[in-house]
Amino acid sequence: MQGQVVKKVVVAGGGTAGWMAAAALSRHLGSLLDITLVESDDIGTVGVGESTIPTARTFNQLLGIDEREFMRATMATFKLGILFEDWARLGDRYIHSFGQVGKSTWMAGFHHMWLEARAQGFGGDLGDYCYELKAAEGQRFATGPDATLNYAYHLDATLYGRFLRGMSEKAGVRRVEGKIRSVEQDPESGFIRALVMESGDHVEGDLFVDCTGFRGLLIEQTLKAGYDDWSQWLPTNSAVPLQTVSVGPAVPYTRAMAHTAGWQWRIPLQHRVGNGLVYCNDFMSDDEATAFLLGQVEGEALMTPRVIRYVTGRRRKTWEKNCVALGLASGFVEPLESTSIHLIMIGVLRLMQLFPFDGCSPALAERFNRLQDTEIEGIRDFIVLHYKLTERDDTPFWRHVRDMPVPDSLAHRIELFRDGAQAYQATGELFQVDSWLQVMLGQRLEPRSWHRMGRLMPPDQLRRALDDLKGNIGRAVERLPRHQDFIDQYVGRRVAEPA
Ligand code: FAD
Repeated sequence: MQGQVVKKVVVAGGGTAGWMAAAALSRHLGSLLDITLVESDDIGTVGVGESTIPTARTFNQLLGIDEREFMRATMATFKLGILFEDWARLGDRYIHSFGQVGKSTWMAGFHHMWLEARAQGFGGDLGDYCYELKAAEGQRFATGPDATLNYAYHLDATLYGRFLRGMSEKAGVRRVEGKIRSVEQDPESGFIRALVMESGDHVEGDLFVDCTGFRGLLIEQTLKAGYDDWSQWLPTNSAVPLQTVSVGPAVPYTRAMAHTAGWQWRIPLQHRVGNGLVYCNDFMSDDEATAFLLGQVEGEALMTPRVIRYVTGRRRKTWEKNCVALGLASGFVEPLESTSIHLIMIGVLRLMQLFPFDGCSPALAERFNRLQDTEIEGIRDFIVLHYKLTERDDTPFWRHVRDMPVPDSLAHRIELFRDGAQAYQATGELFQVDSWLQVMLGQRLEPRSWHRMGRLMPPDQLRRALDDLKGNIGRAVERLPRHQDFIDQYVGRRVAEPA
């Protein structure tokens, strides 16, 4: 390829990140590139990461994936949001859904009208005005040309990797199995030249995508890109995953249940349930965590629990020299809002947009790094919000997160909402206003004031307008089939082995 400096792309690692990168690059730039993926069955993958957000659908569409085929291959279910239990206070429950809340105007968000109504003694719950939230609560779901629900998936991470691998290999990606022993660099520039395998083989490349997981074999162990540790804001550092047999119909939401030193997830798939405990080991031992989780799960365990240790934070540079880190190699902000797979997706799309055909330049790397930084910082603040707003003081962990200082960017958002019920989505940020709203109110952050738009209409008219909205949503939800019935019909079978 005359004039093209970067042609050979080597993806190091075959977890979700590696295969997502290989699938996207081969689908969209395959005819210009020569792509190799290196992975080690002996090392394996992290084996978790099963709850997604709606951008997963965008990614699948970009890859031309048929949804039914994907759902059968990954034993996926649909997800409309996350149910948070016991977060602000013991006994509290709220849903952060993927939906929009009510109808906003250019001047003020819908919630200002709702706050006005609530102050006048009517209006009900904010969630009554959100289609996705009510559908999640009622365990209803449908998709298709006429359905307008905004949704994501719960999927089996191992099967998803296998599915993407099949697509990638068909599109020409070469897979090399084996352990990377060392990384060879150009002595002058420090650019990576090749991965040296334990077999002695060299896998040479022009651009390397580091998807080796937490170890960051290329980006950190070789290029020393550095890591910003965020555990002062996100103190959990351990997780114990556990898969169990399903004991009831799959619900269309992830459950995030707060416990004494962190939280527990429950993710329903077609064939099993993914569970896990996230905790900080300063406040709970591994043995306590494992015993607690085993006592909490419903259904027979399908594996032996094992502890995963992590440090929340992000790589200081995710693009350094001729190496771009994706997935856990680029950082991890804990799984509370299921954002890691999104970060992989957005990273690989940005890499394709900024692809260094004529060589890796510092300017391209800096642009990529800035975009990734904005994205992950917004997500960090959103996750910290859940902890910071707790009112729980029943355990040392909850007192610690309630009293901890937070990033200035987040402190400002909290103040803004408390003072004037104002929430915003900054440029380049993932979470929309409705997400901030649902979590802030769900966590009992009470605004002292709000926009007076609601007073522009007489109380009766405001009440009628809200009742109409609520009624329309209620009727639309009643018309939806039950989530489990919809899945059975959509994938064409009841619980069975993956296709
Ligand atoms: P890994 O899965 O660790 O893959 C690393 C790859 O590198 C493997 O193929 C391995 O064999 C290879 N490798 C490493 N070293 C070598 C070597 N020397 N030679 C050859 N190959 C090597 N994300 C979400 O979006 N939603 C969730 O609900 C969610 N839940 C999570 C829960 C927990 C507890 C954790 C820890 C993470 C969670 N994540 C979640 C994040 C998600 O799991 C990861 O983003 C995703 O799995 C991608 O991982 P990875 O591919 O970067 O790393």
